Amino acid sequence: MLPEYFEFSLPTKLIYGIGIIGNISDTVKPFGKRKAILVTDEILVETGLVDKVKAGFKKTPIKIAGTFDQVPPNSTIDTVENCAAMAKQKGCDMVIGVGGGSVIDTAKVANLLMVKGGALKDHMGAYLLSSDDRLLPSILIPTTAGTGSEVTKVAVIADPENDVKLPFAEEQFLPQLAILDPALTTSLPGKLTAATGMDALTHAIEAYVDKEWSPASDALALHAVALISGNILQACAKPDDLEARGAMLAGSFLAGVAFSHSMVGMTHGIAHALGGVYHIPHGLANALILPEVMAYNLEAKVDRYADIAFAMGISYPQVIHHGRSLLHSNRLDLPTKLANLSGVDSLKEYINTGSHRARGMLASAIGSFGFIDAWVRKQAAVAAVEKVHTLNRQLAHLTGIPLNLKDAGVSDGLEKIEQVATTAMEDGSMLYNPVEPERDAVIAIIRKAYHTKAKPLPVSRDELRPRTSRREDKQITEVFKDSEMLYDILINFYELLKAHPEIGPKLAQSDLCVQFRYKNPTGIITIDAAGDDIKILKGEYDGSPEVTLTMNADFAHRFWHGKANLVTALTRRQVAAKGNVPRTIKLLPILKPSYDLYPKFLTEKGLGNLVLR
Ligand code: NAD
Repeated sequence: MLPEYFEFSLPTKLIYGIGIIGNISDTVKPFGKRKAILVTDEILVETGLVDKVKAGFKKTPIKIAGTFDQVPPNSTIDTVENCAAMAKQKGCDMVIGVGGGSVIDTAKVANLLMVKGGALKDHMGAYLLSSDDRLLPSILIPTTAGTGSEVTKVAVIADPENDVKLPFAEEQFLPQLAILDPALTTSLPGKLTAATGMDALTHAIEAYVDKEWSPASDALALHAVALISGNILQACAKPDDLEARGAMLAGSFLAGVAFSHSMVGMTHGIAHALGGVYHIPHGLANALILPEVMAYNLEAKVDRYADIAFAMGISYPQVIHHGRSLLHSNRLDLPTKLANLSGVDSLKEYINTGSHRARGMLASAIGSFGFIDAWVRKQAAVAAVEKVHTLNRQLAHLTGIPLNLKDAGVSDGLEKIEQVATTAMEDGSMLYNPVEPERDAVIAIIRKAYHTKAKPLPVSRDELRPRTSRREDKQITEVFKDSEMLYDILINFYELLKAHPEIGPKLAQSDLCVQFRYKNPTGIITIDAAGDDIKILKGEYDGSPEVTLTMNADFAHRFWHGKANLVTALTRRQVAAKGNVPRTIKLLPILKPSYDLYPKFLTEKGLGNLVLR
């Protein structure tokens, strides 16, 4: 089934890579010469992350003309206005945001204010800009995983005078470029990793069950659920694990795109109100409210929560999950009848008190009979709620995040609960919740999240994996001092390949003429194996090579070490290829032995210092 209408767009280009911030020159070229305001906060300056980002931009035509580092968590109207004023005063024509959601939202709304002027409140609302309104070009670089704000059309700014958070939504908030570098998130402390990660999980789950779901947001949301739920414990337990950090960033981005299309729901409505009235950090408020709202929505969205359970790794019968069950094919109508049997009822009651694992196992066993589909899916859906509770408790064990609103900072015995409920009921997110949120239910959920006596839960070893090694950041760059050195090394090396007893004959058989055009320093070398002999030619070549590969000379150096993948490099536009590319790629297996030869060749030439380890 599809919704009657849906749309999807993501004008933002996004790049991902460990340490990629040091290698953005080519990617940012289309921006040309710019004077940018860099929006960030003091902590990120202190951690040295801002310097890392600035170093990345040093090699580009984008000049950082000013740094606004006064963004507090849950940024405010004053902050945005001060940021826009500074950017104007410095004559900036570009915005770069480096930080968590508070920074990125500030960057987005300050951009709007710089272009449109006036007071911030004049711009509050959704889609007030017309399609030909342009904001300044922007690059957003998240350091939490996260809000996904780098790919969302929304921004949230606090209005401390009125204890509310103001929503802004504009298509133009989407940046031209988002940069995801897991290395920029390893300094995020455990509690923040947990809370911001649960924020991302909330985005994914709410995007999947919301009224405005679409096939596009569904696909993104479910994969986000898998990435986040599968890596959040690891990221908290092993903060330096770049694989886990990367998976969290990717999950947060996917969840951001998903909810930017299908919107969020009641969890967010309540969390925004708790943020506005009690200043509870956004991610933490979401973490505590999410399982309660899932339970509230459950009956209306059993199938969708069952899908979420599956994405979170809770197994239940695959034969049913893939829609081949007797129930789904309408051949049997047993489940409802079975569900009414007293024996099953007492069984259900027994399972309802068990852990999500026990439930999954039992559901598997019973489901293999293949005829109580609805009941099995319901157990899986309930298991999804339990899994979120469990994750919160495990995160509390790993990082010390609070498990109830009292410990999270509500210190007045919930005196302002009516105000929170009123604010929540007026929040735009409530419109998208699959079940109409009732005020009494909102109050009951807040009370439950305040009073719960949940305890931290140790994480078993099998839920974590060994830390993946920190990838070597160190790279030798600008290997070839000048064209002469490039020719001396590469031409001699290609001659060696030609004479090699294994590689030479296979190259000759390839019948291929490949030209390499190097940059930094420049050089042109053609390997012509089209005739009887293989010719290695220096400089312009007057024939027509079957393939021309243009690349940085440093890339060639990495390639001949076997450390650069040509196919990936083509995707990343690190290599431009003209001609019959597939035929060239088929040559790659022939070249494999050369990856050992190149370092040896360099060492024998007295250039061991250039060998990549
Ligand atoms: P945050 O931006 O408020 O940051 C929390 C703290 O983490 C800050 O003190 C910050 O300095 C620190 N921090 C961030 N990255 C760090 C790093 N790598 N190392 C060390 N410290 C680091 O937290 P957040 O959860 O990312 O953002 C919350 C804000 O985002 C809220 O205002 C929320 O309403 C908003 N939000 C926006 C969207 C959206 O789509 N625009 C979505 C969800 C939430």
